[in-house]
Amino acid sequence: MLAQPPVKIRNILEEQKQFFRTGKTKDVDFRIAQLQKLKQAITANQPNIFKALKADLNKSGFDAYFEIIGIIKEIDYALKQIKNWVKPQKVATPYHQFPASTHIYAEPFGVTLIIGPWNYPFNLVMTPLIGAIASGNCAVLKPSEISAQSSVVIAEIISKTFESGFIKVIEGGVEVTQELLAEKFDHIFFTGGTEVGKIVMSAAAKYLTPVTLELGGKSPCIVDENTHLEYTAKRIVWGKFINAGQTCTAPDYLLVHKNIKARLLNKIEKYIKEFYGYVPLDSPNYSRIINQKHFFRLVSFLKYGTIIVGGNTDLEDLYIAPTVIDKVSWGDKIMQEEIFGPILPVIEYTDIDEAIAIINEKPKPLALYFFSNNKQHQTKVLQSTTSGGVCINDTVMHLTIPSLPFGGVGESGMGRYHGKAGFENFSYQRSVLNKSFLFDLKWRYYSTSQGVKKR
Ligand code: NAD
Repeated sequence: MLAQPPVKIRNILEEQKQFFRTGKTKDVDFRIAQLQKLKQAITANQPNIFKALKADLNKSGFDAYFEIIGIIKEIDYALKQIKNWVKPQKVATPYHQFPASTHIYAEPFGVTLIIGPWNYPFNLVMTPLIGAIASGNCAVLKPSEISAQSSVVIAEIISKTFESGFIKVIEGGVEVTQELLAEKFDHIFFTGGTEVGKIVMSAAAKYLTPVTLELGGKSPCIVDENTHLEYTAKRIVWGKFINAGQTCTAPDYLLVHKNIKARLLNKIEKYIKEFYGYVPLDSPNYSRIINQKHFFRLVSFLKYGTIIVGGNTDLEDLYIAPTVIDKVSWGDKIMQEEIFGPILPVIEYTDIDEAIAIINEKPKPLALYFFSNNKQHQTKVLQSTTSGGVCINDTVMHLTIPSLPFGGVGESGMGRYHGKAGFENFSYQRSVLNKSFLFDLKWRYYSTSQGVKKR
């Protein structure tokens, strides 16, 4: 069999530019039809998607459903709202401009590049795509090569559903991403690590291409003295260990008030057992580490502090048990790098101001979690910290709400998406002043009385 010829990235880009210039994507009915097609294709391919997620990350049906349902809900929300979003927004016209009208139009950028990570390989390519379609763009998708089975299924779904001039998947490794980044797109949407985010941004700078960077970092989880211990533990365990901790918004570490630390850790252990059993290795609900590189990276964190829950590993199975580590210190590597795995280090504090000061010394996180019944403390934490998003008394759930824009700040990223924010992310505001010929106010013209001499 002949080998496939290499994909000519420039040809694909040219094809998409031509497609965009036809103006098809500007028609809102076209966009609606494409969103419906996407929903239908994802629904019809659910078994293949589940299979791929199982192969890549050992995701359970429950977790795979969680990944897919988020996309479906986003499509439904966009379908419901799109006619409002696309309406030109009438704005006030100053009286000295009369007779005229002024509007802001949400215009698509053109051809956008969406680069995805491996941890939620479908969701994190498809959810940005919804925003790109809703706002009238063409798109090239580059799924992560690390979640290889998911990448294949994404490519199949997209090629069967859309013309390549409109949406096209390009598969491949880092070199392919680099080739893509060498081209001139009209917008780049990147989800991944902070270091690669910098590479993407510097490549985009060459053409002054606008970027959205959805990055990672260490998201802190503070637990106040006055909290509902049972729900706190349950919600932390869910958010930390879903997908074996390979969630960008997973609580990275616990900052817990010293007076409740022992009781909270007991409950955390209880819920780990309740969700994953005494041997999580045998649990159908527990995911695996994506590859050996990440496995060894995570295993190297286990040497810090004192393991109080878990700690078991199995290289062959890429398994690391849900693990809680006490007595770590800030100088340890585990407290300096994003963990992005099923290891939860714990640090205690004595005063809420101390916890706030610790967080403010670190790079601005993607998410910040605060568990407390104390309204004053809630307000204080909100007012004195910075993060992409906040969940009070829960973890991760804020990003499932389409009306809440999702994204980071500082080192955790720039730009927002989900719901209307996704539509806005993939469009720019075009300001339009439309003047009438009815009459012409003289105030801005030179006149002889203002010193123009007649010869
Ligand atoms: P990554 O940055 O290693 O890779 C993401 C993409 O970048 C992949 O498609 C890959 O091909 C490409 N890439 C990798 N190295 C490259 C290079 N040198 N040049 C050009 N392209 C390159 O990220 P990952 O390992 O896939 O994902 C984990 C990271 O992503 C974590 O830091 C996590 O917090 C973050 N993340 C963030 C979000 C979010 O929504 N903010 C979501 C998921 C993951």
